[in-house]
Amino acid sequence: MLEIGFIRENREVLQQTADKKGIPLSIADLLAQDERRRRLLVDVERLRHERNRLSEKIGELMKQGKPIEAEEAKKQVKEINGSLGSLEISLTTVDKTYRDWMLLVPNFVSSDTPNGASDADNVEIRRVGEVPRFDFSPLNHVELGERLGILDIPRGVKIAGSRHYVLKGTGYHLHRAVQQLAMDVLELKGFTPVEVPTIVRGETLLNTGFFPTGEDQTFALAEEDKYLVGTSEASLVSYFGNEVVEMNGPIRLAAATSCFRKEIGSSGRDVQGLYRVHQFAKVEQVVLCENDPALSEQLLQEMTQNAEEILRMLELPCRVVAVCIGDMSQKTYKQYDIETWMPSRQSYGETHSASNLLDFQARRANIRYRDPNGKLQYCHTLNNTAIATPRILIPLLENHQKEDGSVYVPKALRPYLNGVEEIRSV
Ligand code: AMP
Repeated sequence: MLEIGFIRENREVLQQTADKKGIPLSIADLLAQDERRRRLLVDVERLRHERNRLSEKIGELMKQGKPIEAEEAKKQVKEINGSLGSLEISLTTVDKTYRDWMLLVPNFVSSDTPNGASDADNVEIRRVGEVPRFDFSPLNHVELGERLGILDIPRGVKIAGSRHYVLKGTGYHLHRAVQQLAMDVLELKGFTPVEVPTIVRGETLLNTGFFPTGEDQTFALAEEDKYLVGTSEASLVSYFGNEVVEMNGPIRLAAATSCFRKEIGSSGRDVQGLYRVHQFAKVEQVVLCENDPALSEQLLQEMTQNAEEILRMLELPCRVVAVCIGDMSQKTYKQYDIETWMPSRQSYGETHSASNLLDFQARRANIRYRDPNGKLQYCHTLNNTAIATPRILIPLLENHQKEDGSVYVPKALRPYLNGVEEIRSV
């Protein structure tokens, strides 16, 4: 959420940002609506003041025994009430549209954000690890999972429809193991682990910037103003909503939750396997810090490194890309995605997404702290994936497969799998 004064001063750049982020908003219309709203407010206030003045006068005139003048003043009050009524209705309507449009204003983006329309325009920053070369015909994760008896997509579809799956036996354990590994890594780095609601109020999603733009992607509970989260970021940030927080250095939170997404608009894309599903689990990093762009930039790098470290522990080759403006959400100021090598796709596929939102989200959620001078300031907020599964099982199974159909288990994961060194079919 940006302030209207800031929007007025930066109208051109914000219009370009809205256009590039694909948000249907006219900043000129918003500013005109603001003018209209201010003019109406002035008129309403003027009439209210006049009505109060006349009401007092009526009392005095009655006391002075001047009923004719009092009657005249009453007539004027009646006329004012008529005008006021219609002005107040106009103000409510104009104000509602103004607020709706304000909720669509995008965050501006960092000067080093690549220009571009889609993920094809994201810019590679670095590669980590070696892409494997197989001297046999490698299988994809669905073939591997089915042969190993750890993945059952047909039964997932039977139970819940398309884009659902069942993980069983070692598949279940792998799914849990990667999450626990990620939580343990983050806890060692000073993140507080938290269990948060995954059924949340509409207000929670609005205040964290997921509504209104992401509403069509969100599962709603019938007849209630409650929704299933697409990411625990909404709950973790809202934990501090409408509060003045104690800020003695960055606040680091981590949660492992289920996430639910409608994936509207992706029909026909990634329909096979575990890449794009309606329900998945994600360990999320959320950080709040002082309103200092240099500090939040440093934390963005740190949170990206955290994810890279987890991928290194899983012995998976990946690359970091700077996300272009057209591939960013409304609230994002700067974003890196981490993509992990997926042999069946013969490409890197997105597995992590790190964002710095500056104070955009905190303004919306009203999260403040007192600076050393005692002044209230809005925090900066950041988020990044630590692990998202089952998507990460794609590179995990595919990169670590062996010719005999078994799958190597990275050393860091073994303690979470009773020391198992390889997955074999039972
Ligand atoms: P996001 O919160 O959209 O930045 O996504 C973070 C990560 O969650 C992605 O990089 C994926 O690893 C994972 N993810 C997002 N959407 C899905 C989905 N529909 N199915 C499986 N994994 C997903």
